[in-house]
Amino acid sequence: MAEDVFKKLVAHCKEYGFVFPSSEIYDGLGAVYDYGQNGVEMKNNIKKYWWDAMVKLNDNVVGLDSSIFMHPTIWKASGHVDAFNDPLIDNRDSKKRYRADVLIEEQIAKYDEKIEKEVAKARKRFGDSFDEAKFMETSEHVKAHAAKRDALHERYKKAMNDNNLEELKQIIIDEEIVCPISGTKNWTDVRQFNLMFSTEMGSTADGSMKIYLRPETAQGIFVNFLNVQKTGRMKIPFGIAQIGKAFRNEIVARQFIFRMREFEQMEMQFFVRPGEEMKWFAYWKNFRLNWHKALGMGDENYQYHDHEKLAHYANAATDIEFRMPFGFKEVEGIHSRTNFDLSQHQQYSGKKMQYFDPETNESYVPYVIETSIGVDRMFLSIMAGAYTEEQLEGGDSRVVLKLPPVLAPVKMAVLPLVKKDGMPEKAHQIVDSMKLEMNVAYDEKDSIGKRYRRQDAIGTPYCVTVDGQTLEDDTVTLRDRDTMEQKRVKISELHDILYRKVSGHELFERLIKVQRETAVK
Ligand code: ATP
Repeated sequence: MAEDVFKKLVAHCKEYGFVFPSSEIYDGLGAVYDYGQNGVEMKNNIKKYWWDAMVKLNDNVVGLDSSIFMHPTIWKASGHVDAFNDPLIDNRDSKKRYRADVLIEEQIAKYDEKIEKEVAKARKRFGDSFDEAKFMETSEHVKAHAAKRDALHERYKKAMNDNNLEELKQIIIDEEIVCPISGTKNWTDVRQFNLMFSTEMGSTADGSMKIYLRPETAQGIFVNFLNVQKTGRMKIPFGIAQIGKAFRNEIVARQFIFRMREFEQMEMQFFVRPGEEMKWFAYWKNFRLNWHKALGMGDENYQYHDHEKLAHYANAATDIEFRMPFGFKEVEGIHSRTNFDLSQHQQYSGKKMQYFDPETNESYVPYVIETSIGVDRMFLSIMAGAYTEEQLEGGDSRVVLKLPPVLAPVKMAVLPLVKKDGMPEKAHQIVDSMKLEMNVAYDEKDSIGKRYRRQDAIGTPYCVTVDGQTLEDDTVTLRDRDTMEQKRVKISELHDILYRKVSGHELFERLIKVQRETAVK
């Protein structure tokens, strides 16, 4: 069922000019996608909402745009050359490649599905008198599944922490996990696979240097930490924000734009005094969740997921997850990265990465809180939450994208009722008066009903119709996408009615309130 919705969503994204497979006429390129005319508008809106909330709203956060190519030693220092790996395993029959950790995690989820099935069966049997909590405690079947799940989870966690590849393979054998394509258990050994893309820089074979396409934007911020601090006269605590492309040679790239090989990140590194990182971690965790929730996609669709296994450099980490059609999934990571990265760069470059704190009269390597979100994954979460099929009165149906107005690619469509009597001219005048403020569309083709459906399908929050009366009294009908209600308003009022909704002012007011209430002392 959920898979069905997901397929429809992917098809919808293509049909309405949001996302196309890359190089489609050559049968595509794995896990690489292009954004179409509506997709690019929405993507830009996501980036603007993030940038404004991080850089404009926070006085102590400034921006940066560092390059994709960087000195290769950066990736040695950051640990990516040696440790940015995923455990991969091949099935010899299907020749398909999998991530060993993902296969095992899916197996763990299967035990949960079995438990859910038991519960559903019992609910049917007992009807109204069903007590789920008691059933979970007492059912032998449920207890057996839960015990197996927990044992597997423990074993898996240990194998991952110990980096024990033989044990990962043994788990796959013991659990009798089969390849979903061939159905066989004919597995190779588990191997580590580095996710960084590399290329050569320089013209001659001798003089060329192996460099990497950055797998995260964060390192560009770390290596510019002192440049920004000094030239911007920044005082700790302060943050540097950046939006840019990142590249990972993902082993299993599935689920559309959820996991891509070329994607875009919006990252902010916040530099703090050692020992003060936990309160800033709490602050950013809360601020970032509110940033998501302010969009109005339903608070119940977000949750935190605290990490059990911390990266070697982190002392706290959490994900913000969104309810996708395939379950709650990570959209953003918030990490307390200690002083690991700056210390490593200090060591590898031989340059001091320290800050002199005038308040304490001390020099130190700052601690860092990172917020890191993928633009594309955010895009997918919004699309998934917005995609709605509605049955209408009279047997009609519609597909509507209930996008937050601030993110919608087109904010208003202006539609002359008929293509004559001066209505198109009047409609063009309205478009011209608004088009520098927001993205406005003009459409005169087909019946008005069809035009409404087309705008619904791309999530346009407002449609304005110019009719005979408009020519007499300068009023239009304003149709709301979600309620489909229409009301008559003066053309001169349109700007004020729409602007607050589509510009994000209301969202920022909420965020400013959060900022005030949670200010770190
Ligand atoms: P995952 O566990 O899903 O691979 P991650 O924990 O490796 O993600 P981070 O390194 O924390 O991800 O990256 C931060 C954010 O960048 C993620 O929350 C996600 O939104 C985005 N991201 C990471 N990898 C990809 C990818 N291959 N495609 C699209 N977005 C990605």
